[in-house]
Amino acid sequence: MYSFGMESVDIEALAKETEICKKCKNVVVGKGNPKAEILFVGEAPGRNEDEQGLPFVGAAGKNLDKLLAEVGLSLNDIYITNILKCRPPENRAPLPDEIRAHTPWLINQVKEMRPKVVCSLGNYATKFFLTGLKVEGMDEQPGITNVHGKVKIIEFDGMKIKLIPLFHPAAIIYNQKLKVEWEKDMEIVKREIAQKTLV
Ligand code: URA
Repeated sequence: MYSFGMESVDIEALAKETEICKKCKNVVVGKGNPKAEILFVGEAPGRNEDEQGLPFVGAAGKNLDKLLAEVGLSLNDIYITNILKCRPPENRAPLPDEIRAHTPWLINQVKEMRPKVVCSLGNYATKFFLTGLKVEGMDEQPGITNVHGKVKIIEFDGMKIKLIPLFHPAAIIYNQKLKVEWEKDMEIVKREIAQKTLV
């Protein structure tokens, strides 16, 4: 068992230990507060993330920092990771086999963190959680436009996960109308966090 997200984590040892995707050079585990009640899950590291070894440090990350600040939150209130832990070539969409290879790591992160709410960012992460953390059936899941801001209880391995899908911060850069939706959805996230009972 490892302790993810801590400054002292040896990322290479972690990659070996979890035996995930031995082809990856730069592994991007996550950032933020591993003790937070909210876990954000994006798609995959991009060029900047790959270079710095941290998720959401490029344009999408800068937008996310702004969006969080506008709803009174910071990185201390969330932990953030991706379904893929390394950058797909040319930033192409994740392939089913890549998702299969990388998500055991994400599943360990969810189990260890036991967040009150998981916010999947965009289509890939949302579809992965909606299937019950499986690659099979992702294509048949509804897209983010239909499910954002809706609370879904996902049962997985004896755990109940409260999922609230959100628009990806990169999509909001290109379509500012989504920002209003994001803010409304974050009110729902905050309301769920304020509840005393877990699912
Ligand atoms: N987009 C993502 O989904 N993840 C990152 O880490 C950066 C951009």
